[in-house]
Amino acid sequence: MKRAMYFLDQKDMPTKWYNVLADMPEPMPPYFHPGTKKPLGPEDLAPLFPMELIKQEVSTERWIEIPEEVQDVYRTYRPTVLHRAYRLEKALDTPAKIFYKYEGTSQAGSHKPNTAIPQAYYNKKEGIKRIATETGAGQWGSALAMGCAFFGIELKVYMVRISYDQKPYRRILMETWGARCIPSPSKDTKAGRDMLEKWPDCPGSLGLAISEAVEDAMTRDDTHYSLGSVLNHVLLHQTIIGEETRKQMEMADAYPDIIVGCVGGGSNFAGQFLPWIRDKFSGKKKDLRIVCVEPESCPTMTRGVYAYDFGDTAGMAPIAKMHTLGHSFVPAPIHAGGLRYHGMAPIISKLYDLGLIDAVAVHQTAIFEAGVKFARTEGIIAGPEPCHALKVAIDEALKCKESGEAKTILIALSGHGHFDLSAYDAYLSGKLQDFALPDKEIKKALTELPEIPEG
Ligand SMILES: *Cc1c(COP(=O)(O)O)cnc(C)c1O
Repeated sequence: MKRAMYFLDQKDMPTKWYNVLADMPEPMPPYFHPGTKKPLGPEDLAPLFPMELIKQEVSTERWIEIPEEVQDVYRTYRPTVLHRAYRLEKALDTPAKIFYKYEGTSQAGSHKPNTAIPQAYYNKKEGIKRIATETGAGQWGSALAMGCAFFGIELKVYMVRISYDQKPYRRILMETWGARCIPSPSKDTKAGRDMLEKWPDCPGSLGLAISEAVEDAMTRDDTHYSLGSVLNHVLLHQTIIGEETRKQMEMADAYPDIIVGCVGGGSNFAGQFLPWIRDKFSGKKKDLRIVCVEPESCPTMTRGVYAYDFGDTAGMAPIAKMHTLGHSFVPAPIHAGGLRYHGMAPIISKLYDLGLIDAVAVHQTAIFEAGVKFARTEGIIAGPEPCHALKVAIDEALKCKESGEAKTILIALSGHGHFDLSAYDAYLSGKLQDFALPDKEIKKALTELPEIPEG
């Protein structure tokens, strides 16, 4: 019998998150205050986040207990399944063994509830009544709307205008789960009003929507802010993915040679690979290859710089050392594949800087070609984001066909594409065009980086 799915029993779901900060080869650079440009303390973050999350952000404990209440909610959709892609392997005629861990079976259709749920929980525990957040295409907003519904918290979502106009379905998900969703730039904040004055038709950007949500939280006592990617505590919560996968790969009697995932802010892929990279640190699997895949139109890792930058557009969010295209970056409207954030998780940026992980950028027609091949072999219609991972995984499997090597490839499949069918439609009807970010735009954006006294 060919076993194509590996199920982990609910009683075997991991009960701890893995904190890579315990094992990083070098310490992480500190965060800086956006106004004073001084190192950031817990008290600076307290208006934005509950203390438990601030502690997790800097903790160097290797294992962090998942609260019982969070485990209970995780068990409404976890453990997720690890699949063996026999049908894709056959279609590619490759000796490679391809596995994928699929997060599209959560109620919101992606990995994002893995952090939305604990974030809502810790805010509730601290007595917070309301949260403000941003969303791009709406995955994060919808995941947090569900988390907030479970824990009885009011939610306001600033949604990037171009997505708000073009993708009504995720807004309706948010509203069904009880959140209020408005397009960004909005008139509800100074950051939004300033932008609308300069550029009335501004399509919006994640960085600007973050500015609005941060301002909302900073100016109200009953409100906190919540971020769906990038930060250390978000990556921490996502490690449930890789910890489950380790157990499932053992059931399959397999160990990955290559792990491939897409990176926007980096949370889903870090959630998969951080639990494996400790084997690389310890020397148990020195030659493990970890490949981050990003769009050519938002090439944060492959063409951005490793520098201090603001987390948002208006310069109100903390400054972090990360791979960045500059905080004023606005993605081209023709880009359909998600992964549009100007920066990258500081943990991923550091690991990339140390040469421990790889990155490649791919064009959008190629990712949809891979997504269609995957849909026609494995059946799943993947989100455009994880299609980036599929493209590179397929390339690696075809290299194995050339060389005759039977490598084991593990794909982080972060979500389904049921609300992204118009992008598939554009691809299938030949309307999708490739777009690489021009050098001069990168150069211009990088002139606006904040000056931090390096020390
Ligand atoms: C949000 C999202 C991403 C990108 O965010 P990361 O933090 O890089 O994971 C990728 N895939 C899906 C399905 C998403 O919803």
